[in-house]
Amino acid sequence: NGSYPYESENGQTLVIGSSGFIGRFITEACLDSGRPTYILVRSSSNSPSKASTIKFLQDKGAIVIYGSITDQEFMEKVLREYKIEVVISAVGGESILDQFSLIEAIKNVKTVKRFVPSEFGHDIDRAEPVEPGLTMYGQKSKIRRQIEECGIPYSYICCNSIAAWPYHDNTHPADVLPPLDRFQIYGDGTVKAYFVAGSDIGKFTVMSIDDDRTLNKTVHFQPPSNLLNMNEMASLWETKIGRVLPRVNVTEQDLLQRAQEMRIPQSVVAAITHDIFINGCQINFSLDKTTDVEVCSLYPNTSFRTIAECFDDFAKKISDNEKAVSKPVTASNTEIFVPTAKPEAL
Ligand code: NDP
Repeated sequence: NGSYPYESENGQTLVIGSSGFIGRFITEACLDSGRPTYILVRSSSNSPSKASTIKFLQDKGAIVIYGSITDQEFMEKVLREYKIEVVISAVGGESILDQFSLIEAIKNVKTVKRFVPSEFGHDIDRAEPVEPGLTMYGQKSKIRRQIEECGIPYSYICCNSIAAWPYHDNTHPADVLPPLDRFQIYGDGTVKAYFVAGSDIGKFTVMSIDDDRTLNKTVHFQPPSNLLNMNEMASLWETKIGRVLPRVNVTEQDLLQRAQEMRIPQSVVAAITHDIFINGCQINFSLDKTTDVEVCSLYPNTSFRTIAECFDDFAKKISDNEKAVSKPVTASNTEIFVPTAKPEAL
């Protein structure tokens, strides 16, 4: 169910990065929870797709504030003026260190009850991917240490993988259809990972921010129902599209080579893909630190969307697109999507 047992009465929340891939899920969940939700938007952010995301969130009730987290004085003013209690940052991989000035602003204002820095992946104090993944983890780690040194109340969200086909060269795999021509299987395809729906990343993040049990804790997302290996993912997708696709093995060496190419961000994704599907970084540790908490134990009555349900959404998009294609082309629908064997951005 979608209930929010820890809804606060005021809980003014500022989300940073709402126009981004993860930030949109967080902002939607924040609005759904009934929290007064402010979103920080850079005035330089002017792509049509980002503008339509912002408009969608505004229509749902988000209040837009224009600015950048790198402007510390402005951020202090925003935090004070809007009496912000919770700050959730979902800035992208290239902006992780921008959060230093935000931390300084939160430290000076002293009224923020919870800060969630941009993580939304693995426990960076445990995982050790090859470069260039390691550099990004190093930056997230510096942010963690600064938060702790400043005594800012925090939660670190380790939601593992997003529910989608885990392409090794795409930072936003849920924006792309699973394969329609062949599967690329990493290693022997038997290493498991947690695949969590974007809406659940948002929902459980928002549930955890008012919860005393997640204060100064690392919040792990480990739903047993969403733990699958690549062979299982491939078979599940085959049942959704009603046909069997060839499986091509991508070796450890192939992934390491892609990482060594140092193309950013693709090589970062290749390094992290190697860590997940070769090293087993999501499953090769136990939650034995006093700072570890796990969402299924915290919220046993709230269910996760299954991968099968998420794959149903992708399959529906294919059938909707096919229906659109079968319509006669007229002046008003000349830009319709044409399905090909290649996965396409949705
Ligand atoms: P995106 O690149 O999609 O979006 C980043 C957002 O941050 C944009 O809205 C951008 O605004 C905003 N932003 C960046 N810098 C600033 C700034 N200085 N001030 C204000 N806003 C700023 O990010 P992702 O969603 O890909 O990444 C978010 C986090 O999630 C990262 O930590 C990443 O590692 C993680 N992640 C996890 C995944 C998973 O499967 N678990 C998948 C992908 C990401 P603008 O529009 O102006 O550029």
